[in-house]
Amino acid sequence: MTIKEDIQSRRTFAIISHPDAGKTTITEKMLYFGGAIRDAGTVKGKKTGKFATSDWMEIEKQRGISVTSSVMQFDFNDCRVNILDTPGHQDFSEDTYRTLMAVDSAVMVVDAAKGIETQTLKLFKVCRMRGIPIFTFINKLDRQGKEPLELMEELEEVLGIQSYAMNWPIGMGKEFMGIYDRYNKRIEQFRTDEEARFLPIDEEGELAIAHPMKETSYYTQAMDDIMLLNEAGNEFSEEKIRRGELTPVFFGSALTNFGVQTFLETYLQFAPMPQPRLTQEETIVDPVDTPEFSGFIFKIQANMNPAHRDRIAFVRIVSGEFERGMNMTLARTGKSFKVTQSTQFLADDRETVDKAVAGDIIGLYDTGTYQIGDTVVGGKKTFKFEALPQFTPEIFMKVTAKNVMKSKHFHKGILQLVQEGAIQYYKTLHTEEVILGAVGQLQFEVFEHRMKNEYNVEVRMEPMGNKIARWIENEEDVKESMTSARSMLVRDRYDQYVFLFENEFAMRWFSDKNEHIKLYSLL
Ligand code: GDP
Repeated sequence: MTIKEDIQSRRTFAIISHPDAGKTTITEKMLYFGGAIRDAGTVKGKKTGKFATSDWMEIEKQRGISVTSSVMQFDFNDCRVNILDTPGHQDFSEDTYRTLMAVDSAVMVVDAAKGIETQTLKLFKVCRMRGIPIFTFINKLDRQGKEPLELMEELEEVLGIQSYAMNWPIGMGKEFMGIYDRYNKRIEQFRTDEEARFLPIDEEGELAIAHPMKETSYYTQAMDDIMLLNEAGNEFSEEKIRRGELTPVFFGSALTNFGVQTFLETYLQFAPMPQPRLTQEETIVDPVDTPEFSGFIFKIQANMNPAHRDRIAFVRIVSGEFERGMNMTLARTGKSFKVTQSTQFLADDRETVDKAVAGDIIGLYDTGTYQIGDTVVGGKKTFKFEALPQFTPEIFMKVTAKNVMKSKHFHKGILQLVQEGAIQYYKTLHTEEVILGAVGQLQFEVFEHRMKNEYNVEVRMEPMGNKIARWIENEEDVKESMTSARSMLVRDRYDQYVFLFENEFAMRWFSDKNEHIKLYSLL
């Protein structure tokens, strides 16, 4: 295989969903089809204890969760698939958002009974902003959920994206009979053995053979719905899928492994290969036409190995090929170095990688050299990829060192953790008290833990709760007298003013009183 073919075989994506929608279950099935795991049902180490190797960080052990995203790789239908995990629930953090900067497409898993939930919406917005293709899997059809047409409407209304049903359920819950596969033109039966699973459909789109299903009201209902979709629904458009304007929708049941394989097969046909990326110099780095290695760091994970206290910088390769022992230059500093140690991330273990190409993710051992968003290049000419966006934090904490004598270590630790992207930093105007901002609670716990273990500083954390952070376009017009108990003015790490509002109401009140102040949020 040439390197070009190698790159073209890559499909790198993330699964976005709200906790409990079935992300882990569907990931397991995919890994199983790809032969990466022997039993579907082993990804969640917390239940089986099989994945002890990934439980490297103490906080992970204590809480039994995976702190930061990992990468899973497998081969399927001539594609090499990289799934980047996007942690949710209590482990939701800025890393979850940043992972979406490193993928070429996303799979959105929706619980049929719940529809679009908050976390799905947040992650969806980031994908939308990037204009990447989004594929939808509506899960748990083996249970009673919302009407399929209602779910399609919800996608369009809540998310503002057009949808195209690739298949359609026949019945649901106890009466779930299967799916009408519009794309492959066949009916796939639920809970039927392999050979008899697929039924043909005729020219008119009706089930082509005599079958008891045909006599049911569920079949008639599904046919009515499909007729409606044919007449009034969106047209299938590969172009719109590619631009992220239309999401192909698949119905299924991950737990019973129904519809997942068809989904994966169809998805891989349309999912994009590694995509070009813009640089700060406004040139485009094309993965296939650029022979030199290049990549960017989207995540730094600390303490992979407590004995060495090392960190791992996750690199998304944008162009060319990575080989162990190669020379790389860090664009920010211009420093070159030979990469002897690198690591790749698999479902069950870490192993050393010797070779990887555009689309793949590699981990570089880091002793404090890298920052989030850094560009690394293999060639002589250095450049920088477009900066990664900063995300608007939602929860805030005041933090001080328990022991004032440790103030130097305290500030050093904060500086490093902020540079790493672990947490966001703000300070009050005159007293310069330290305020930390995060999108998920876990970021604070990781911060506290690392300050103690890596910088030997115990911190006191004082919760300030949820706030709405807004930056200001016309900073020169801001006056301190505009602040109140419900709108606090602070500075960010770049010394820019930021208002922290108590709630929506406080923000609206502020805007009504100060119409000339133009507020904006980060992503
Ligand atoms: P995650 O939090 O999104 O990773 O969700 P999980 O994959 O852990 O699933 C959450 C719960 O939903 C688990 O109890 C699963 O067994 C269950 N689940 C997942 N998929 C299905 C499905 O298709 N049908 C039903 N009935 N339950 C499912």
